[in-house]
Amino acid sequence: MDRPLFLLGVLAASFAAAAPARAADAPVATIDDLVAANRILAHENVVDGFGHVSARDPQNANQYWLSRSMAPALVTAADILTYDLDSNALNATGRTSFLERFIHGAIYKARPDVKAVVHAHTPAVIPFGVSTVKLQPVFHLASFIGAGAPVFEIRDAGGPATDLLVKTNPLGDALARTLGSANIALMRGHGMVVVGTSIPEAVFRAYYTGQDAQLQSEALRLGGRPTYLNAEEASNASQTVTGLIDRAWQLWKRAAASP
Ligand SMILES: [Zn+2]
Repeated sequence: MDRPLFLLGVLAASFAAAAPARAADAPVATIDDLVAANRILAHENVVDGFGHVSARDPQNANQYWLSRSMAPALVTAADILTYDLDSNALNATGRTSFLERFIHGAIYKARPDVKAVVHAHTPAVIPFGVSTVKLQPVFHLASFIGAGAPVFEIRDAGGPATDLLVKTNPLGDALARTLGSANIALMRGHGMVVVGTSIPEAVFRAYYTGQDAQLQSEALRLGGRPTYLNAEEASNASQTVTGLIDRAWQLWKRAAASP
């Protein structure tokens, strides 16, 4: 073999050797999306030092990805751990898990359609978890709220003296039951959980849940009786808005990546 052909051969062999590694690494793109989701949620003030976002492993529906216990703004690909649906870490190697990882595993177990979960303590939503006023869709971008957000009362599942955290599988299962087939649930005295069929969709819904809560509070403060989206409007707007999520995702990704 002359030299150029030999080099071509070496090149082909190295590609052949790299191919299986690339196949195994295929989910890396989604891990990148999960890292971006962490950064975006922090940048857009949906989460602060607390809160987390996970994604179902696209290669294994019985596993999910979630960062080790840390502030979302600081998450890198190296911080993402894999969990089974009982929320046992499969590759922690000494790294600490979130106390509330059970939120994620229980929802993935109960909802095969869910591919990403956000848990946050966004201040604007907290009042709706503690009052008798239901969080409802005030505008089209929050149409996924549908007929209103169910509220998880941890006392029903954990008794009157929990620390409010969903840190066991039975509490996670109870939260998943409250969520039912909805896209979001509020957690009384604590925060919210938001689900999506993709990472961008869960991030979008988490962001606009906070916006909607703020707007509904403002509408209520005006007095009178607010008009919320009705069921048909919510369903139609939700379908339209789903096709527009990528526009916001690209913007947020760029903004969160800028210094
Ligand atoms: Zn929490």
